[in-house]
Amino acid sequence: MTLVQGRAAVVTGAARGIGRAIAAKLVEHGARVVLADLDADAAAATAAELGGDGTAVAVGCDVTDPDGVDALVRRCVDEFGALDVLVNNAGITRDATMRKMPLDAFREVIDVHLTGTWLGTKAASAVMREQGHGAIVNISSISGKVGNLGQTNYSAAKAGIVGLTKAAAKEVAHAGVRINAVQPGIIRTAMTEAMREDVWEAKLAEVPMGRAGEPEEVADVVLFLASDLSSYLTGTVTEVTGGRYM
Ligand code: NAP
Repeated sequence: MTLVQGRAAVVTGAARGIGRAIAAKLVEHGARVVLADLDADAAAATAAELGGDGTAVAVGCDVTDPDGVDALVRRCVDEFGALDVLVNNAGITRDATMRKMPLDAFREVIDVHLTGTWLGTKAASAVMREQGHGAIVNISSISGKVGNLGQTNYSAAKAGIVGLTKAAAKEVAHAGVRINAVQPGIIRTAMTEAMREDVWEAKLAEVPMGRAGEPEEVADVVLFLASDLSSYLTGTVTEVTGGRYM
């Protein structure tokens, strides 16, 4: 259980759901982790549960705020002496058909997912280039591959994260920094629990493995991409979907 032993990591949107599972997995494998979340109290509670001994610390951070993201990256370096891993995970949904979606709901989702991931990738890769190593993992969604009804905002943002991941990966590969993306399918979290029962069942019916994924199953893939097991992978997109939309 030492795949990221001694590494310093930042996970955004880490108070709950997939982000929390990722932070827990990194701690379990020896990393020290800064948990960033819009909800600072919830992040602090999660950090206390994961590593009361200082291996997990919490920071209140809105990933759409450039100064906040810079401060987050600095905090990790100040606290742990490096930034080895960044996971851009924070996310929201504002679903509606395009006919009913207000422009604000489109911009908000693009801002959190795409701009937030760009800000994190930019700030972290600057530190990682200087170090000569680092791994960034961006959480996209299978929605960015196939486009989901009622999610023109979310699907566009998640597809954008793929393009951003590949372009940024090309820019920093020579400096020892790897950037990869993960596309989860339907994973059991608060985000999906808000779904109507019939919508949930219809989505599950499309999964060849016949079940939803658990946050820990996404976290396992992120751990792989954050660790040296994936030392020759960059610019990749890994689907964690139980075979849905393969
Ligand atoms: P979740 O349970 O809703 O957790 C998302 C976390 O992100 C929350 O703690 C939320 O804080 C935080 N957050 C939201 N906006 C933020 C911001 N501007 N700055 C910092 N933190 C912010 O969602 P999840 O299901 O774990 O999703 C995590 C990631 O996986 C997202 O990027 C999502 O799009 C992606 N994903 C999820 C699924 C799925 O089936 N669940 C599938 C594919 C992709 P608050 O609680 O304060 O809002």
